[in-house]
Amino acid sequence: AASAGPLHMLFFPLMSPGHMIPMVDMARLFATRGVRSTIVTTPLNATNLRRTVDSSAAHGLPLSLHVIPFPDPAATGLAPGQENLSTVPTAHFNTFVMALFHFQSPLAALLRELRPDVLVSDSLFTWTADLALEHGIPRLIFHGAGAFPLFVLTNLVNYLPLDPSTESFTMNGLPHPIRLHKNGLPELVDNFFMLKLLGEAEAKSYGVVVNTFHDMEPSYVNYYKNKNQTGIKAWCVGPVSLFCRAAEERAGRGESPADRERVLGWLNSKPAGSVVYMCFGSLCHFSGAQLREIALGLEASGKAFLWVVRREAAEDAAAEAEWMPEGFEKRVEGRGLVVRGWAPQVEVLGHAAVGWFVTHCGWNSLQESVCAGVPMITWPLFHEQFINEALVVDVMGVGVRMWEGFRRNRLEEAKVLVTAEEVAAVVGRVVGGGGEEEVETVARKAKEYGEAARKAVEEEGSTYEDVTSLIKELDAKRKEGQEDV
Ligand code: UDP
Repeated sequence: AASAGPLHMLFFPLMSPGHMIPMVDMARLFATRGVRSTIVTTPLNATNLRRTVDSSAAHGLPLSLHVIPFPDPAATGLAPGQENLSTVPTAHFNTFVMALFHFQSPLAALLRELRPDVLVSDSLFTWTADLALEHGIPRLIFHGAGAFPLFVLTNLVNYLPLDPSTESFTMNGLPHPIRLHKNGLPELVDNFFMLKLLGEAEAKSYGVVVNTFHDMEPSYVNYYKNKNQTGIKAWCVGPVSLFCRAAEERAGRGESPADRERVLGWLNSKPAGSVVYMCFGSLCHFSGAQLREIALGLEASGKAFLWVVRREAAEDAAAEAEWMPEGFEKRVEGRGLVVRGWAPQVEVLGHAAVGWFVTHCGWNSLQESVCAGVPMITWPLFHEQFINEALVVDVMGVGVRMWEGFRRNRLEEAKVLVTAEEVAAVVGRVVGGGGEEEVETVARKAKEYGEAARKAVEEEGSTYEDVTSLIKELDAKRKEGQEDV
């Protein structure tokens, strides 16, 4: 099945920003190392990627895009145009996940047509494990999560099902004991069907590529690599956002050029480290009441802020009037900026004016914060974000919690509001350096991790070496395949 010429890797990301962005960066990374990299996605998702891919190709990188149709709405139950998880209401996430099974025959046809040497696919495409075996090529899994959450998730099985009376428990036997609350567990732990498929697919796959670097979570990278229960191989290829540095390569990821200029221009007018950047990723759903508390809290904090409100919440003026405090933007003019929709996050975090990041602890957001050396204020919402929060605050020491405990209900909107007073207290205390020793230490550690991230991707750095050995191994595997024919 193997091709001649350079190694050819096919990348098939889950259609969600938090999975597509890193997978595309990864495809670019492999292209910079001479691997022919093809990204497979659907028409609407491709429009967002076209610019990145074209600009890379224009610079001579062997990166290309292959478009396949999204399954017919009649078969999936999704509305036409819902090709990305970020456009699907939370209640329909499962419908979206089930729709992914309809990609089986188009992808099989594509493998026959393109004959790649390797398939890198998102963990949720569990059926790609069998497909790759049928085609005699290795499949690499991309989870979108880091070594720490993956390791904790693997271990969780030993604690399930939880006794109904259990509110929280400590996971022992790890380099650090981890305190987990039942409301902070990923929704996936209830989906035994999916867990079973994931486990079976992992056993049949060749390995895992993780968007992390060794020094960020060394104990867990080692644990995950060596003691992984399935014995599957793992390589660290991150932080992948560091491989996509030029503005043109990152353009077109959701923000309009005008918004981008407005945001970066505004940041230029602010002193170093003075601004708090607040953004909850691509899938969050806050109630109007919660948005209102956030607005009032930011106002009361007295600090400069850049606040991203998802388009959905900021959709029309009528809906916005329900939560936006009257006269808010006028009162905070100059000090605060509200972005409706999408911010150029990697550039924002890299801007000297940004001192702290209020984050939902999505894996990409926290990687990007670490790369920029920006400390975090954590506010997890769902999925494995509570586990990521434990890494940020308790293990790495690069963040402080916005609120203590587990006050959210999984996958649902806030049942208990985080109040304006709480937001104002934490933001007011840490942003701009209050001189508190604990806060200074967190900020200093964040800077150190930022240095380490840059070292990891440089020549001879740990990530660089992992990528080199992965390419070598895949190349050898391909040659073996050629001899077999
Ligand atoms: N992102 C962005 N601008 C925004 C919101 C999100 O560029 O206004 C990017 C962010 O940089 C990250 C991704 O979208 O790369 C979100 O991934 P993450 O894992 O943090 O969260 P998710 O969206 O999966 O919950």
